[in-house]
Amino acid sequence: MQLAWSADDLAFRDEVRAFLAAELTPELKMAAAGMTSVYAPPDVALAWQKKLHARGWVAPSWPVEAGGCDWSVARRYIFARETTEAGAPPLSPMGLGMCGPVLLHYGTEEQKRRFLPPMLAGDEFWCQGYSEPNSGSDLASLQMKAERDGDHFICTGRKIWTTHAHYADWIFCLVRTTRMEKPQLGISFLLIDMKTPGVSVRPIVSLSGEHVQNEVIFDEVRVPVANVVGRIDDGWTVAKYLMEFERGGHAYAPSLVKRVDTLVVHLAETGQKMPGRIAALRTEIEALDALELQFNAGLSNGAAPGPMASALKILGTELSQRLTELEVEAALPWVEAYQPHLTLPGGPVPGFKAPADGLGVGPAWAAKAFPKYLNDRAGSIYAGTNEIQRGILWQYLARRNG
Ligand SMILES: Cc1cc2nc3c(=O)[nH]c(=O)nc-3n(C[C@H](O)[C@H](O)[C@H](O)COP(=O)(O)OP(=O)(O)OC[C@H]3O[C@@H](n4cnc5c(N)ncnc54)[C@H](O)[C@@H]3O)c2cc1C
Repeated sequence: MQLAWSADDLAFRDEVRAFLAAELTPELKMAAAGMTSVYAPPDVALAWQKKLHARGWVAPSWPVEAGGCDWSVARRYIFARETTEAGAPPLSPMGLGMCGPVLLHYGTEEQKRRFLPPMLAGDEFWCQGYSEPNSGSDLASLQMKAERDGDHFICTGRKIWTTHAHYADWIFCLVRTTRMEKPQLGISFLLIDMKTPGVSVRPIVSLSGEHVQNEVIFDEVRVPVANVVGRIDDGWTVAKYLMEFERGGHAYAPSLVKRVDTLVVHLAETGQKMPGRIAALRTEIEALDALELQFNAGLSNGAAPGPMASALKILGTELSQRLTELEVEAALPWVEAYQPHLTLPGGPVPGFKAPADGLGVGPAWAAKAFPKYLNDRAGSIYAGTNEIQRGILWQYLARRNG
């Protein structure tokens, strides 16, 4: 097993560092540091995306002819690690990381020409319409119907938890085009313009007071048949392809290392100590870091993601949740002050009037500890709940051990 970087990788790392030093402004870093949700607010993510786009670095895994970088796994990992360590905001994944790869794989030439350039440039913003009020883990039970009417489908139904639907220009949806006995059959992958008559968005305000998720209602929405990606009734194949992207290719450890180190600084500044628990958590994060490096080295050598992607998702999200518990404990002297104006971006809470001076009680980092704690509970739910991931691991182990 080879985990050392090549001279070429190290030269690339230096190139990335030079770019970050020149382009990652203090304003962008401050906005990223203030995030309490896993998703950067669209204006922040898009401002960073424009800079990456100008450099040609917005889509690390896409082919060059489609405007991507076609980097090796090692380069992608180095890029992700360096941008995280430098404090860059994450890009919105729904277009670049989900719908884009699907279009590249299953889209027609016309669909690629129409949708990929504005997705790369950040001129069109995407959201994901998979989950429904009664279909989450059991996604194949989805009910939103799309009935054929000539060159169009008439779509009626509801999607829920739709991240950033209130900003999105387009939504990619799984819809039921035909009723068949097996629920996985008869589903299609459909691109819907959010401005189409009959589409409405209702906010879901989270416990932290932020508006990131939504319910999207479709009331007899007319969508061209040409907007189906892949074959009609075979959307499950497309959905499975996308979910592999959602699960793999992500490194949790670099941001966890950064957060735990920041917490140590905050503890020192406020005269607090929790050495045993910090050391224990830091050790587990280091172990995750080693596993992620090993996983990426395997991918570089042609291995399939396999069940390790599930293990890394469980470890990454649960270590993050434990870290938020320590962050809240460190902020305890101040967390009782209700200061949603300080938890921007995402705030302020509707109807809450921020004090004119914009100042709060206690250090600024303490104000985001509790919203971050609340939002982080979602880490073990989205992108396939951790119980489902454990089920995948169990099936793998049961098969392997006969
Ligand atoms: C912050 C956030 C953002 C999201 N963004 C989006 C988005 O942009 N687009 C989108 O389409 N969806 C989004 N989702 C929805 C997300 O994908 C679902 O919440 C998730 O798939 C779980 O579905 P559910 O909420 O219906 O829970 P359920 O599937 O009803 O699960 C409830 C509980 O039962 C457990 N469970 C269910 N089945 C099994 C099983 N077979 N074995 C063991 N345990 C099981 C689950 O683990 C969970 O604990 C988001 C969710 C969150 C929290």
